[in-house]
Amino acid sequence: MLKGKTAIVTGSTSGIGLGIARALAGAGADVMLNGFGEASAIETLRAGLAEEFGVRAGYHGADLSKPAEIADLVATTADRLGAVDILVNNAGIQHVAPVEEFPAERWDAVIAVNLSAVFHGIHHALPEMKRRGWGRILNVASAHGLVASVNKSAYVAAKHGVVGLTKAVALETAGTGVTCNAICPGWVLTPLVQKQIDALSADRNIPEPQAKAELLGAKQPSGEFVTPEQLGGLAVFLCSDSAAQMTGASLTMDGGWTAQ
Ligand code: NAD
Repeated sequence: MLKGKTAIVTGSTSGIGLGIARALAGAGADVMLNGFGEASAIETLRAGLAEEFGVRAGYHGADLSKPAEIADLVATTADRLGAVDILVNNAGIQHVAPVEEFPAERWDAVIAVNLSAVFHGIHHALPEMKRRGWGRILNVASAHGLVASVNKSAYVAAKHGVVGLTKAVALETAGTGVTCNAICPGWVLTPLVQKQIDALSADRNIPEPQAKAELLGAKQPSGEFVTPEQLGGLAVFLCSDSAAQMTGASLTMDGGWTAQ
């Protein structure tokens, strides 16, 4: 279905981004991976993706807190794999602290990676999508793009910002063949969430399985984690012709979190 399309998935060396990159490659897209990690592990990932799905796969190590590196990510992808048809803004970081104790430097970092990088990626990729009359922009927001939780002021602000940016870009691109949607996952068991489970387990001196159950129990009525594969399936759907009239939407996949 996506054969001949070029996709960038930011933050795809791990977690949700990797799940989405695998799903897009599985649908035939050439994929530019991005994110941090050990060089040899990333190369294994890149080569494995290309071989498993018979697509072209590249890697660019742009630090998404740096606008110039995002510009280079888009330009290099166009050079190596062809102009960007699908942009998945997924990279994200978390910091947990009460607002009055929240380090200003962490606030700036969360806003830079989780919100400003989404703007910069769209800013650079959109002109060519518009020129060619087809494009898909997928912004990985969060349940925290729709509702808040304590001690996550920067993350909640950034993710609400992503939902707003998604709507603005959807209006500006309506009728051009480009769509822009946000995906709002609930808890997904990735390294980002494992850190929060470990912290809960240490703070409360409870075993890890109990920390997991409490984390889910507090927010996610299904009592189960969403998986990167399920989010990959949603991403592929949003890139399909069936989703051509879906734009500006914030799609939850959160086990009922935001239905409460
Ligand atoms: P993760 O920590 O497993 O992966 C994050 C990815 O982003 C990694 O590849 C990492 O290297 C990359 N990254 C981090 N900082 C970067 C930077 N400055 N430049 C380039 N790459 C950078 O996290 P995840 O849980 O897979 O999260 C992915 C996205 O999903 C994030 O935007 C996160 O906010 C969102 N999300 C996660 C959950 C969850 O429960 N895990 C829920 C809702 C939304």
